[in-house]
Amino acid sequence: MKNIQIVLNAILSKNVFEYLLIDKELKIVHVSLGVMQFLNAIPAEGSDIRDYLPELVGLEEDIAKVFEKTENALSLKTVQKENFYFNIYVDHYDHEKALVLLHNITEITKAQQEALQYSNKTLLLSDTLQKIIDGQNTLIFVTDNQDHIAFANKQFLEYLKIENNQKLQEENLKLYKKISDELESYEDLYHYVQTHEKHVTIDDDTFMIEATPLDPVHHLFTLSKVTDIYQKQKSLEAEVEYDTLTGLMRKKFFDQRLQRLLKQQVPFALSVIDIDDFKGVNDTYGHPVGDKVLKEFATLLKESIRDDDLVARWGGEEFLLGIKIDDIEKALSRVESIRQRIDEHHFETIGHLTASFGVAWREEGDDVDSMLQRADKALYKAKDNGKNRVIFKKREKLEK
Ligand code: GH3
Ligand code: MG
Ligand code: MG
Repeated sequence: MKNIQIVLNAILSKNVFEYLLIDKELKIVHVSLGVMQFLNAIPAEGSDIRDYLPELVGLEEDIAKVFEKTENALSLKTVQKENFYFNIYVDHYDHEKALVLLHNITEITKAQQEALQYSNKTLLLSDTLQKIIDGQNTLIFVTDNQDHIAFANKQFLEYLKIENNQKLQEENLKLYKKISDELESYEDLYHYVQTHEKHVTIDDDTFMIEATPLDPVHHLFTLSKVTDIYQKQKSLEAEVEYDTLTGLMRKKFFDQRLQRLLKQQVPFALSVIDIDDFKGVNDTYGHPVGDKVLKEFATLLKESIRDDDLVARWGGEEFLLGIKIDDIEKALSRVESIRQRIDEHHFETIGHLTASFGVAWREEGDDVDSMLQRADKALYKAKDNGKNRVIFKKREKLEK
């Protein structure tokens, strides 16, 4: 029992969990220091917990049961407040008090997770800790150096529809295969988490993944489901004018600029740019290097254009260029010089890289889509003809 207390204190002191004790009237009896950062207030002893956590309103009957028995612990959905994301867990403390645990999942940092390390062995033994860990909305699992999952919490087993830890051992689950084709072991997954962004997709759900070593052979992974938050964030990002990786304009906003030019009858050329054999860059050097190359490529484009020109990232390794100029030949020579500049540039880590360019010239009756279509067709041709070249496509008479 003493051990458990030490482990609990270690976890609490590391900010992974914060807690409040409440009585049967739902009045606050005691709070841990870190609670105020989540609630942006210092809950006064004797005040009603629902004033601070309205998420508990309506759950009074369920909470009442928690006072009676340890089995009736409550686990609530992820809550967001004051830039924090946390899970709420209400557990039996004694017959007079209940423990309200707030599990901070905003940033399960290494240091925080290291606190869990103390519990590694106790984890499997201690009922109380097992219950707390099971009570989280987070999927937790521990891997060993035999490429096995040595332990998983209840949420993990439920999510993957596995009956119990025993079955998990028998099944020899290779979860990393669901995360990425590139991964061949849990060791790979561990390194992947260190070098990639912290969001992974399993089936249709998005998780924030964290990994930390427990001892020389074990790794602790946590998967916090953030599908809703993540989708919201993605849709917000789409509303932002500039792409986060390259800092270039997004297509939607580029289109709006082109539309303006079309309306004003300004002569201009449009070019669709696609990096050649970019998949090979990722395959040879890894995704993070690929990202760096995209940034460097974007910088090169920005440096190659004039104040009047427009440049955007279409997505992936495809870019768009708008050149305001009154002569197609001049436009083509501008595009050609950009192609050459890329061809001659030494990219960090990978060295040589080329790109293909499809170009369309603004003609009578054009709109953004018809120009894009033409430039895209020209790009296909550039790829077909051996890549690393500029191809221009005129509007066909039939299209009129
Ligand atoms: P091609 O010369 O025919 O264009 O060949 P390619 O390999 O460039 O073409 P493909 O369209 O098959 O592959 C594009 C690759 O770009 C696939 C994808 O993994 C990679 N990619 C797309 N977006 C990103 C990104 O944001 N970062 C990184 N690192 N890679 C990306
Ligand atoms: Mg492409
Ligand atoms: Mg490409």
